[in-house]
Amino acid sequence: MTRVAVIGGGPAGLAAAEVMAEAGLPVTVYEAKPSVARKFLMAGKSGLNLTKAEDLSTMLPHYTDATDWLTPALQAWDSAAVVRWAEGLGQEMFTGSTDRVFPKAMKASPLLRAWLQRLDGLGVNILPRHRWIGWEGKQPMMKGPDGAELSVEADAVVLACGGASWARLGSDGAWADWIGVDPRPFAAANAAVAVGWSGHMAKHMGQPIKGVAWRSGPYRSRGEAVMSHRGLEGGGIYSVSRGVREDADLYVDLLPDLSVDDVVARLNRPRGKASFANHLRKMLRLSPLKIALAQEWGRPWPVETLKIARRLKKLRITHSGLRPMDEAISTAGGVPAYALDDAFMLRARPGVFCAGEMLDWEAPTGGYLLTACLATGRWAGQGAVRYMKR
Ligand SMILES: Cc1cc2nc3c(=O)[nH]c(=O)nc-3n(C[C@H](O)[C@H](O)[C@H](O)COP(=O)(O)OP(=O)(O)OC[C@H]3O[C@@H](n4cnc5c(N)ncnc54)[C@H](O)[C@@H]3O)c2cc1C
Repeated sequence: MTRVAVIGGGPAGLAAAEVMAEAGLPVTVYEAKPSVARKFLMAGKSGLNLTKAEDLSTMLPHYTDATDWLTPALQAWDSAAVVRWAEGLGQEMFTGSTDRVFPKAMKASPLLRAWLQRLDGLGVNILPRHRWIGWEGKQPMMKGPDGAELSVEADAVVLACGGASWARLGSDGAWADWIGVDPRPFAAANAAVAVGWSGHMAKHMGQPIKGVAWRSGPYRSRGEAVMSHRGLEGGGIYSVSRGVREDADLYVDLLPDLSVDDVVARLNRPRGKASFANHLRKMLRLSPLKIALAQEWGRPWPVETLKIARRLKKLRITHSGLRPMDEAISTAGGVPAYALDDAFMLRARPGVFCAGEMLDWEAPTGGYLLTACLATGRWAGQGAVRYMKR
């Protein structure tokens, strides 16, 4: 029997297992945790944004720096393929107002259940509590549930151990120490920003900040963020967090639909006896939360109206950097493109393929992450099938 091992039972590993089993290979998935796909289930808690309803040419540029080498995998498995696959697993899908695609169930468990059933039907053997701990010669070494070490005799291996955030769900990035290629250092991607709020902001905690535009360096976003005791979190801020990581300043435009001239014109209307905050509220229709943010980051206010208008439209956010990497939705860094051939096989280890978030790419939230994890999982799996046939 030819033996194929997948290490890591997240979406990338399961996708690799699926294509290899469909090709008739006997597949065993080794998973460190007591059950597979814990991060995938966690992603389901916010609705499971599986993909984005975009054609490939719109989607690809979101994989900044990695577009070239991810293209073949995403060409073979694009957003439409993700939807067809999920529907094939009995999940009704819908596209939200921002083209994000979700299962109607708005969770991952029904999809995962159906997927695991399909894998079981294909003969995929899943071994939980088996942690990959290094190599013995060419073979991966595992620590089994009883603590005993075993060497896996596999003719092809797909590594899909994830990135380095939410370690409690399994992806601790420990593999970087022994994989044998120099991984690019991990860094938080799609991360929250740490803010030490003043006492005035306490009553706004938990509130969503809507109708604003965020920017940091070249990154822009109109998405929502939520205020929390830790700082700012949510899709809007995640999209620009790379700028913060790269040491650019972070700004919010509280009035993205008005030009500076519009704001000046409104602020120049007679103020009467209104306080500054009341004048802002009345003239600019700013919500109490936006006024609080303006006061938090805008003071001391300049005297000239033009300068006030500019400040409201480019309010510099005082923060203390990104929240710790373990809290990030995803991580940048990992196995670099140069260490892989076109089928994502490690050049230094023939027969060993890599997939998913452990590869060195990053993308914003919005379904891009899972789409690429599934696509690269399938691509690596197909590469392993060709390798085995050869
Ligand atoms: C809160 C949250 C919400 C998210 N929401 C979305 C979303 O809506 N849409 C989206 O596109 N993305 C989302 N993501 C990101 C997405 O879940 C990940 O990008 C994706 O799960 C990565 O898939 P993966 O298979 O590469 O790795 P993982 O899902 O991390 O799976 C890796 C697996 O490998 C196992 N493993 C690790 N090391 C070893 C080892 N040494 N031996 C054996 N097994 C090992 C782990 O236990 C784990 O099961 C979210 C992430 C988080 C944290």
